[in-house]
Amino acid sequence: MSAGSIATAAYTVASLLFILSLAGLSKHTSAKHGWTYGVAGMAIALAATIGLTVHDSPVRGTAVAFLVIAVLAGAAIGLWRARVVRMTGMPELIALLHSFVGLAAVLVGWASYLEVEQNGSGEAGGFTGSLLRIHHAEVFIGVFIGAVTFTGSIVANLKLSARIKSSPLMLPGKNMLNVGALVLFAVLTVVFVGHPSLWAIVTVTVLALALGWHLVVSIGGGDMPVVVSMLNSYSGWAAAASGFLLDNDLLIVTGALVGSSGAYLSYLMCTAMNRSFLSVISGGFGLEAPGGGEKEYGEHRETSVGETASMLADASTVVITPGYGMAVAQAQYPVAELVRTLRERGVDVRFAVHPVAGRLPGHMNVLLAEAKVPYDIVLEMDEINDDLATTDVVLVIGANDTVNPAAADDPTSPIAGMPVLRVWEAAHVVVFKRSMATGYAGVQNPLFFRDNTQMLFGDARTQVEHILHALASAGTTARTGREAELDPVP
Ligand code: NDP
Repeated sequence: MSAGSIATAAYTVASLLFILSLAGLSKHTSAKHGWTYGVAGMAIALAATIGLTVHDSPVRGTAVAFLVIAVLAGAAIGLWRARVVRMTGMPELIALLHSFVGLAAVLVGWASYLEVEQNGSGEAGGFTGSLLRIHHAEVFIGVFIGAVTFTGSIVANLKLSARIKSSPLMLPGKNMLNVGALVLFAVLTVVFVGHPSLWAIVTVTVLALALGWHLVVSIGGGDMPVVVSMLNSYSGWAAAASGFLLDNDLLIVTGALVGSSGAYLSYLMCTAMNRSFLSVISGGFGLEAPGGGEKEYGEHRETSVGETASMLADASTVVITPGYGMAVAQAQYPVAELVRTLRERGVDVRFAVHPVAGRLPGHMNVLLAEAKVPYDIVLEMDEINDDLATTDVVLVIGANDTVNPAAADDPTSPIAGMPVLRVWEAAHVVVFKRSMATGYAGVQNPLFFRDNTQMLFGDARTQVEHILHALASAGTTARTGREAELDPVP
C-alpha cells in the first residue's frame, strides 16, 4: 500500500471521528465522548500529515526539522494558553484562534499564487487551461475569505476583551461600503481568473482586510454572539479553501464541517435573538443608529444580605437567572450550594438560562454543570419564561442585558426585539451586581428601577456566600419567615 493511500484512509477515519465528535458535543450527556472522538481524530490527522510530508519531501531532514519545530512550538503555546486562560477569557481566545485560521488561509493563497507564477503561469506546475483558471479562482477566493476572517476576528477579540468599545461603529453609508466591497471583489475575481496579476491579489487582500474590520466593528454588543459563531463559520470556509489549494481532502472536509456547523449555529442564534441572519452576517445591514439619549428611570432600591436570605426563606418558588457576572465572580459553586440548601428546605428552585447569557454559547450550562447543579432544574428561556409571573423570588446573578425589559418595551433601544427573560413579572427580583454599570451591550436596564426590584451590590460570590451563612445561622428552623433571627450580616 502506498503512503498516499494510507494517508487517505487515515484522513477518512479522522473525518468520521470529527463528525462523531460534533454529534457528541451537541448534548450534555455525550459531550465527553464527543471530545474524545475529536482528540482521536486530530491525533490521527496530525500523524498522517506528518508521515505524508516527511515521505513526500525531497529534503527529508529539513522537512522533519521544520515539522518538529512547528509542532513543538504550537503545542507549547497551545498548552500554556489553555492552562492559563480563565473561563471568561475563552471567547476572546477563540476569536484569536479564528484569526490564525484566516491568516493561514491568506498565506497559503499567496504561497500557491507565487509558486504557480514562478513555474511559468502554471504550465510547469501541472495546471493547464481550465484547471489553471480554477486554481486562480481558488487562490483569489481563499485569500479573500481568509483576510475577512483575519481582521474580523481581531476586532471580535478586541471587543470581547473590552479593549475597544462594544457599541457599533456607524460610518456614513456603511451598507453601501459593504455592498461596494463585495461588487469590487466579484469584478476583481473575474479579472484575476482571466489575467492573474500581483496588483489584483494585493488589492483583494487589502480590500478584504478592510471589509473584515468594517463588518465586525459595525455590529453592536448584543449581536456579538452571532458574530463569534459567524467568524467560526468563515474560518471553516477559509480552511476548506486552503484544503483545495494544498490538495488536502481532510482540510476540505473539516473546513466544510466547521463552516456549515458555524453557519447553522449563527442561524439558530439569530432565530433565538429575533435578528435577521442576512443583516448580521453583512455587518448589521439595514440597521439604523440606535435611538439616542440616556433615559431617566428614577431611583433604584438597595437590599441587604439579611433581607435577601429572609425573603428566600419565605419563598415557595425561586428562579435564578445567571449571567456573565456569575462567571466573572466564579459564583457557581456557592450558587449550587444555595440551591441545595433551599431545596432541602422544600423551596422549588430552578435556573432560567438565556441563550446568549455570558460570553459563549452554553457558557452558563457549562458553569452550572461544573458546580454539579442537576440538569433537570436548568431550563432554557422558552421553557421557563411563562412561569416567571408565578414565581415568588427571582435572583438575577450577574445578568444584565438578558433580563432587560427595554428589549421588549422600547423600540428605540439598541437591543429592541431581542427576546429576554421576563424576570420583572415575578413578585420580587433581587439583582446581584457590583454597581449600576450597564451590561455588555452598553444599555441601561430599567429593571433596576422597578418597584419589585432590589439591588444587592457587591461581588456575586461573596454575597451568595454571605446569604448561605445567614441561612445557616438562622438555625434549624426551616422556612422561618421574615421575622427569623438572622445573623447581623452586611
Ligand atoms: P451582561 O454582560 O449584560 O452583564 C453582566 C453583568 O455582570 C454586568 O452588569 C456586571 O455589572 C455584572 N458583574 C460583573 N462582574 C461581577 C461580579 N464579580 N459580581 C457581580 N456582578 C458582576 O451579561 P448577560 O449574561 O446578561 O448578557 C450577555 C451579553 O453578552 C449579551 O449582551 C450578549 O449578547 C453578549 N455576548 C454573549 C455571547 C455569548 O455567546 N453568550 C458572546 C458575545 C457577547 P457590574 O459591573 O456592576 O458588577
